[in-house]
Amino acid sequence: MNITADVLVVGAGIAGWTAALLAEQNGAKVVLIDKSPNGLGDGNTLMTSGSFNTAGKKPRCNPVELYEAVMAEGVAYPDLARAWANNCSRAVDWLKSCRISIAESNVGSLRLEPETEISLAPVYRKDVGRNILTKLKGRFQESGGSYSSEVEGIRLIRESGRIGGVVGRKGEEAVEFRSKSTVLTTGGFSANKEMVRKYIGHGAVECKLRGSKSCTGDGLRMALEVGAKAVNLKYFYGHLLSLKALTDDRFWPYPRLDSLVAEGILIDRNGNRFVDEGRGDVAVANELARRDDVTGSSLIFDQQAWDNAGGDAQAIFPHTPPANPWLMENDGCLYARETVQQLADALGIDRSHLARTLESFNQAAERESFAGFPIPRTGKTRPLRALLYGLKVVPGITFTMGGVLINGRAQVLNSSDEPIPGLYAAGDAIGGLMGGYRGGYTGGLAQAIVTGILAGESAAGFVKKP
Ligand SMILES: Cc1cc2nc3c(=O)[nH]c(=O)nc-3n(C[C@H](O)[C@H](O)[C@H](O)COP(=O)(O)OP(=O)(O)OC[C@H]3O[C@@H](n4cnc5c(N)ncnc54)[C@H](O)[C@@H]3O)c2cc1C
Repeated sequence: MNITADVLVVGAGIAGWTAALLAEQNGAKVVLIDKSPNGLGDGNTLMTSGSFNTAGKKPRCNPVELYEAVMAEGVAYPDLARAWANNCSRAVDWLKSCRISIAESNVGSLRLEPETEISLAPVYRKDVGRNILTKLKGRFQESGGSYSSEVEGIRLIRESGRIGGVVGRKGEEAVEFRSKSTVLTTGGFSANKEMVRKYIGHGAVECKLRGSKSCTGDGLRMALEVGAKAVNLKYFYGHLLSLKALTDDRFWPYPRLDSLVAEGILIDRNGNRFVDEGRGDVAVANELARRDDVTGSSLIFDQQAWDNAGGDAQAIFPHTPPANPWLMENDGCLYARETVQQLADALGIDRSHLARTLESFNQAAERESFAGFPIPRTGKTRPLRALLYGLKVVPGITFTMGGVLINGRAQVLNSSDEPIPGLYAAGDAIGGLMGGYRGGYTGGLAQAIVTGILAGESAAGFVKKP
């Protein structure tokens, strides 16, 4: 089967629907395909909580502030960061124009589709992504765009020095799409164990998946085959999770352990600290994922931290399930003990090692200086006192931050930083905005929507306006 279009968009998450709709609105004839059998794709978008984070700043603030916030981590690419910063405010207007409801939440962030129901599982907010995509799909189809499910993009077609479409398959049947522009919006590679091993770390295959199983890095693979440049591949957005509360077939994105990480210490199997916990939960999860022993770490905290993480696990409106008591009720890997020796025994760690680590940490916290420590500790600290808690943890990968490098027009760049003619990318498939020492999260939705807008417009750029 051969299909022709002006613009082919591969992957129907929020980046794909955005790019497809924008290209359609700019006069192009657009085909959007997705490998899942669903009417709205099957990506991370369907799991989103809808917090429209823009690098911790307000999306309508001065773009210079947004740009500087992204560049501060030292791994972002200026042209892309500038385009993203210049278009965050416009992305909010565009969402509004698509009748997506938006509420102002805490300082710096907006919430999309805030009326949706909160749940304990399988995701925190059930219908945010579904609502958004339903609205975008309605508009796309009203404008004449075409959507095909169960069509998997396999490889890019290269001809006359440009990308001329995609070879795919629908079931057993081969399908060839010919297009003037092709946009890759296939999400990240968090569900591809081989890529996770190769790009994040050998032991990272032990990380839990906190996102969609459809994110198998297909766009990255296809783009690399035609000479694209990929950047920031070792970084991901994710959190520490309780080791035992999660199994592969039981998806629990919550509770989050952020506050316990901020107040506690993370130790390896030998009872030693190996990371500055003050860098934040996302950065700590990244560090742990890059170690060989990804499942051997424990988070140690105390009664005060546990009390601070408390709430009513069943009172889920409007809060996420609190770590306390949710973990105790759902997880056998959480130990509470009177003495450090008892805790060491429970965790299977050498008693004297753990005692030494805890004692030196407590002394440093007491004198408020970690100077001379092999592993620094930033942020506020205090000594940890009995009752002591130990929780075996593992990183959970929500989405990968790295991917194909695009410029400010969402054109995919090659290893010489030149655009590959006819090829664009957006959303979690790209790299160049996120990552860094402190986690470098600038917002998955904001990245997807802004780059989706840029990709849709640029991909339709050849259309002659009347
Ligand atoms: C639990 C969870 C909570 C989140 N909460 C937030 C939040 O509150 N705020 C925020 O900013 N971000 C959040 N995110 C991140 C955000 O959801 C993502 O960054 C964003 O949705 C990515 O959109 P995307 O379109 O790039 O990719 P996706 O939504 O993952 O879509 C990719 C699509 O491509 C399709 N596909 C893959 N390969 C192929 C192929 N070969 N051929 C055809 N189709 C293909 C897939 O089936 C899928 O439908 C959350 C993510 C998760 C998992």
